[in-house]
Amino acid sequence: MTILDTLKPHFHDEFPRLASGKYIHFVMLRHSQSFPIFQTDGVLNTARTQAGLEDDTSISRLVMFKRKQTTPERLTGRELLRALELTTADAADKAKHCEYNGEGSCKKCPDCILYGFAIGDSGSERSKVYSDSAFSLSAYELSHKSFTFNAPYEGGTMSEGGTMRSAINEQDHVLPEVTFPTIETLRDATLEGFLYVLGNLLRTRRYGAQETRTGSVKNHLVGLVFADGELFSNLYLTQALHDVIKGEDKMTVEQLCDRAATVLSTLLPKEPIRTAQTLIGVEVKQLVTEVNEIYQDEEMLQSHLQALYQQTERYATTYGAFAKKGKKK
Ligand SMILES: [Zn+2]
Repeated sequence: MTILDTLKPHFHDEFPRLASGKYIHFVMLRHSQSFPIFQTDGVLNTARTQAGLEDDTSISRLVMFKRKQTTPERLTGRELLRALELTTADAADKAKHCEYNGEGSCKKCPDCILYGFAIGDSGSERSKVYSDSAFSLSAYELSHKSFTFNAPYEGGTMSEGGTMRSAINEQDHVLPEVTFPTIETLRDATLEGFLYVLGNLLRTRRYGAQETRTGSVKNHLVGLVFADGELFSNLYLTQALHDVIKGEDKMTVEQLCDRAATVLSTLLPKEPIRTAQTLIGVEVKQLVTEVNEIYQDEEMLQSHLQALYQQTERYATTYGAFAKKGKKK
């Protein structure tokens, strides 16, 4: 029996119209691999927070706002849908055309239905994927570096037409190996919807300012929690992990994942929710292997995502933007 088989009781056959209390929580450590930039108006986003739940000193932390997390994941999934020809960027193909989050959204593909859309008066769909701001485990002072560099002309030279370029840019970057403990939640999913959202988490490698192409980040899955309610916040998880690793700042990401799994096991029984199943440690590794195998096999992937497309399309025609008037709500 595979791990995926054991999860089947937690999935719906079809996406339900109303929330029905089946939450899947992906608990992970987002781990920077180069120099990402999570900024607004040219400065990195930071927040002053309590260091731990027990450690009540105050520290500044880097912040990864929710849009900075879900946008790259959506784009990863949308690229895959186009590659499998379930959707297209070709506006002439009216049946399959879908534009990201705008007037041209198709309102029926897996991206539109799972992650939601809002298009002025012409309808909206609430996201079934919940995320929230994530905070760096380490303090801002230890997590960033400012680089000063001359901005060359397009040809790579510092002068053009005889004039020297004088613009000196300073840009604050996140350092490599900074950890952002994060919980992303999927509500009321089918097996195929689960595979799609998890696949996007495992396959997205770049976060942050898109023009810089330096934002390499890897998501390490620590645990999966199937429950009837929402979990604690990212900040709470970060503070709990801070208390556990205090003083040991040279940990490998594997060691951090182990500690985070322990923290998760300690915190879960204190929550006012019923947990149907929790995966940590080797079970998570096994699940990731099974999901990777699906993504490596074109036939299996095509068949899962084809099934998912049919589910989201049925949802759209039954409850969503294409439901017959009068039947809706
Ligand atoms: Zn769409």
